[in-house]
Amino acid sequence: MAAGVTIAFALEGQLRLDDQPAWHEAVALVRRQPGSRLIVLATRPDGQRLRGPHQRRIEAQALASLRARLGAAAIPLLAFPQKSTAAVLAELHPLLRPDQLLQAQQSRLWSDWPLDPERFPLVFSDFRRKLDRPPEPPLAPPDLTGLGWTAGDWPEAWPRQWLAPVDPDPSADRLPPADPGPHDGGADHALPRGEPHGEPDCDPQSDPRSAFPFRGDEPTALARLQHFCFVSDGLRHYKARRNGLVGTEFSSKLSPFLAIGALSVRRIWQVLLDYQARYGADEGSDWLKVELLWREFFLWSEQRHGAAFHAASGLLNRQPDWVENRELFARWCRADCGHPLIDAQLRELLATGYLSNRGRQWVASHFINSLQLPWIWGARFFEWWLIDAEPALNTGNWAYLAGVGSDPRSFGGSPRRFDLERQVGLYDPEQTHRQLWS
Ligand SMILES: Cc1cc2nc3c(=O)[nH]c(=O)nc-3n(C[C@H](O)[C@H](O)[C@H](O)COP(=O)(O)OP(=O)(O)OC[C@H]3O[C@@H](n4cnc5c(N)ncnc54)[C@H](O)[C@@H]3O)c2cc1C
Repeated sequence: MAAGVTIAFALEGQLRLDDQPAWHEAVALVRRQPGSRLIVLATRPDGQRLRGPHQRRIEAQALASLRARLGAAAIPLLAFPQKSTAAVLAELHPLLRPDQLLQAQQSRLWSDWPLDPERFPLVFSDFRRKLDRPPEPPLAPPDLTGLGWTAGDWPEAWPRQWLAPVDPDPSADRLPPADPGPHDGGADHALPRGEPHGEPDCDPQSDPRSAFPFRGDEPTALARLQHFCFVSDGLRHYKARRNGLVGTEFSSKLSPFLAIGALSVRRIWQVLLDYQARYGADEGSDWLKVELLWREFFLWSEQRHGAAFHAASGLLNRQPDWVENRELFARWCRADCGHPLIDAQLRELLATGYLSNRGRQWVASHFINSLQLPWIWGARFFEWWLIDAEPALNTGNWAYLAGVGSDPRSFGGSPRRFDLERQVGLYDPEQTHRQLWS
């Protein structure tokens, strides 16, 4: 092997090259020490639960794309998506012993507490009102020219499975076109070079009825962001349509990309700012920013409260009434709870991994209030099946609806309840969703 040091960059479940501050540091270290090498380890955060089947599908797509793009720069990616960085380093030892390790962080709008953690608000409206720093801008991916390995660097002793394909997918090596596009202003936070435009790529394996028919890789994530903001009129009408149930354009469908780190939330925010600079702030773009702040609220809240955030008694430390009816739960898990509207939602969840926000609220509220099952059972089921499962967002929303979290309406004692008949009249008067998933 040539002289110099080996710098490892662990992805920690953040499957992208855009807006990765630690990746910039790793590249800078290698540039400062000629003859050094970069290696990328696809690992997951310590303690993170295993991903469910839908999320694993898009994770494999994102990894295959990353490997192909890094491969084009002759930088190896060793994929161990089910293992923590510490476990992977132990497995690689002694064949590969990086001299320095840099680790990716989960994408958030702020790299440090946006508010004093000691006085972190219980309620979202207080969180939003108290914010006094704008989100941090994203970093465009670094230039990798000249950083690739040469043939002699590649140790013969490396087991072949380290570099085995993650997903035998023919479109994985798709590179973005050379056209930088109209949004690349050359600034540090400009869109990644070669930003793809037009239609995001669809996944031939997904159910044709799916509201999230896309592949999970980073180029598709960036294309979807562009498409929703600038090509379809999705963003402009977002506030009016976000309670929709069917189709791709009623909401952004960015959550699966965020959950596997294929898209940076700062990139989304930056694109929303670009949109507002160009067209002015409208209801749709303002509302999407509010939803991204909800994500932030739950992530920091989980970090602040730790185990209490995920406890059955929640942040309010209140024991909800429930009945541990395992037989009813088993039927519910098979989308056979007997309520046609809820069963249709569950069928969609099982088949595609995606559910609209409105659908999730109905299912959770019915589970808690009508079936009176333990909300933590429903939350764990969602975490396994959702293609965008993020424990902080999932638990935060379930606890909110169970009346043990951050819903101020439940502070008096009872959780909010959805009148399903009325809701259907409002959001699915033609029963389009129910027929699609009958
Ligand atoms: C019971 C329940 C469980 C949920 N579990 C998850 C989960 O595991 N992962 C997840 O990403 N979202 C979860 N949500 C929140 C929300 O339903 C999804 O983020 C949204 O439906 C994803 O689709 P989208 O990206 O098109 O959303 P959009 O409406 O386009 O919103 C854009 C982004 O804003 C954020 N956001 C939107 N709504 C919420 C919300 N209520 N709470 C926090 N952040 C929000 C998400 O990051 C989302 O991607 C849950 C909601 C409920 C009611």
